Amino acid sequence: MSQAVPQLRNWAGNVRFHATEIASPASLPELQRLVAGSRRARALGTAHSFSPIADTDGLLVSVARLPALAELDGDRLLARVGAGLRYSDIAPRLHARGLALPNLASLPHISVAGAIATGTHGSGDGNGSLATAVYEQELVMADGDLVTLRTADAPGSVVALGACGVVAALTLRLVPAFSVRQYVYTAVPFGAAIEHFDELTASAYSVSMFTDWRAPRFTQVWLKLAGPAEPPGEHWFGGTAAGEDLHPIAGMPAANCSPQRGRPGPWHERLPHFRPEFTPSAGEELQSEYLVARQDAPAALAALAALAAELAPVTQVSEVRTVAADDLWLSPAYQRASAAFHFTWVPDPAVVLPAVAKVEAALAPLAARPHWGKVFGYDPGTVAGRYPRMADFRHLAAELDPHGKFGNRMLDPLLRELG
Ligand SMILES: Cc1cc2nc3c(=O)[nH]c(=O)nc-3n(C[C@H](O)[C@H](O)[C@H](O)COP(=O)(O)OP(=O)(O)OC[C@H]3O[C@@H](n4cnc5c(N)ncnc54)[C@H](O)[C@@H]3O)c2cc1C
Repeated sequence: MSQAVPQLRNWAGNVRFHATEIASPASLPELQRLVAGSRRARALGTAHSFSPIADTDGLLVSVARLPALAELDGDRLLARVGAGLRYSDIAPRLHARGLALPNLASLPHISVAGAIATGTHGSGDGNGSLATAVYEQELVMADGDLVTLRTADAPGSVVALGACGVVAALTLRLVPAFSVRQYVYTAVPFGAAIEHFDELTASAYSVSMFTDWRAPRFTQVWLKLAGPAEPPGEHWFGGTAAGEDLHPIAGMPAANCSPQRGRPGPWHERLPHFRPEFTPSAGEELQSEYLVARQDAPAALAALAALAAELAPVTQVSEVRTVAADDLWLSPAYQRASAAFHFTWVPDPAVVLPAVAKVEAALAPLAARPHWGKVFGYDPGTVAGRYPRMADFRHLAAELDPHGKFGNRMLDPLLRELG
């Protein structure tokens, strides 16, 4: 049953939802009835987005109580999972069967459907965003009908910002389980990254470079090595191997983070930076992130380094990652092997929004695409212009949702034909 919502906010507390009702149906027919009977509706995952992407002025519906399907087809390397499950729910179960997802985000706390809808990604030259693991989706459309969409036939429906319907279940592509070791290097100069960006990011299965902009160096570079790959030695690109486990944010407890210093562990306990049983990241924060073509990464780093004096006071930590290109229409890595520049800001919009504007001006010449689930200030026309398939996406959304039931204050201007 649905109930009125007094006041609901996202994980960070910066977005207030305007839903008039909230519901968490326990069966698929109930979900279908609720969606069909609503004027406006939208799915909510675990509310970890910093943008108002999940908001609605109607029914906010969670699929977390739907039966937690986890059908594994180990021969075809496929798993069908409930869309509202968190990665921390499904990963240990896959691992127990000798299976794995190719990659994970920095935190396993988020829902599978919510992560996929926004193009959430981890790092790795060969790793696409988490949405690239979607083989097919079972989607409740605006009229309540259930449709199964295979990604190969409907590449616009995966990173879909919730605009195509409510995903009830997903079938994900798997790989055989693998083990990972993490090594952290401190104080790697920006100069080394600018000169040898490709070599640095090719050094491991997944590479994350962190900086606080207080000096022209990465405070930490995390290398996640898969399988038997040899780690670098004590010194690496001007940095030094850390002698203790570290949190990416200075002063935060390393106990919240996945184990480092080469201790081997299963993929799902090393690919995320943060452990599921602890608060991820700082807890009190805002976030933004921009994806540029990876060949532009040195130029982007140089442009941001030029803003360091303005960024440092409002940044808790920044992270640079790489993401493989994909063919999902609204994926920030659409047909562009990408470098992602992330900011964990202080939790104060008054000082963060001016910094966001500066970053966006600096990255505009590189046609940066903002993360859909994080804070950004580019206007809808600018964002739409960075997606070659935006017109096709508008047609797809209109076909599946002719009356704009799944629209909201962020999507409506984006989906409207602009200019
Ligand atoms: C501490 C922290 C660390 C983060 N680290 C990363 C990171 O490493 N990499 C990265 O890329 N991002 C990262 N993010 C951003 C985060 O991954 C995204 O915002 C993600 O979308 C959150 O998932 P969610 O389940 O909370 O989705 P929500 O925020 O609840 O929803 C996001 C979108 O998904 C839609 N949606 C949710 N469920 C469904 C469904 N069943 N059917 C259809 N649409 C649905 C919603 O309508 C909305 O449009 C981080 C966020 C936090 C708070």
